Amino acid sequence: MLCDRLETINQKIVRAAERSGRSGDSVRLIAVSKRQSMEKILQVASCGQLLFGENYLQEAREKIGGCEKKLCWHLIGHLQSNKAGLAVQLFDVIETVDRLKIARLLDKHAKQQQKEIKILIQVNIGREKQKHGVLPEETEPLLRSILEETGCRVLGLMTLPPWSAHPEDSRSYFKKLRMLSEELADKGLFPDQDRIELSMGMSADYTIAVEEGATLVRVGTALFGRRK
Ligand SMILES: *Cc1c(COP(=O)(O)O)cnc(C)c1O
Repeated sequence: MLCDRLETINQKIVRAAERSGRSGDSVRLIAVSKRQSMEKILQVASCGQLLFGENYLQEAREKIGGCEKKLCWHLIGHLQSNKAGLAVQLFDVIETVDRLKIARLLDKHAKQQQKEIKILIQVNIGREKQKHGVLPEETEPLLRSILEETGCRVLGLMTLPPWSAHPEDSRSYFKKLRMLSEELADKGLFPDQDRIELSMGMSADYTIAVEEGATLVRVGTALFGRRK
């Protein structure tokens, strides 16, 4: 059943990518496995899904540490500075960098662990008080400082738009994030100009995100079912 759901989601991603004039393989699915069992994760992995997203460090440590299969893990939850070392150890990409301090810490730990650290900058595109993420107009200065002061490899931007019961409401925010990334790309601020990641879209609105240019979509419940 999980394999069927995975296939359906992947087909929807391909069709949405084609509607945006891109090929399906320009978008990757992150299977968001927070509060889902290791059994389900391994089942999804056996159907060919190798990229997963986790939110909580403690939970991720248990899962990733106990997982023999080589999977790719993105941190998509907020990162506290005292957990930066553990995050570097566990994750391939940290999607939630929103301040220079955390980028510096990740850089320090990456050097100690002799790893290259790849990050996305989390943008608070809806300017919500309660949300993490850098404000849109502060993204360029933050990106410049990270480039100048750290060895973090900034792959692109990530966002969580304001919650709405109507998925279409997310579209304008996805568009804004894409335009912001294009503006930064035009200034040559991303090291990999050929592939700039835009992580946006969840279970309810991932096809809309793909239509608007997402290269990474983060889907949990639509794939795994309800969380514990
Ligand atoms: C939990 C979570 C998701 C997945 O949400 P679903 O609605 O279950 O698809 C995506 N992104 C982030 C940042 C999350 O915390």
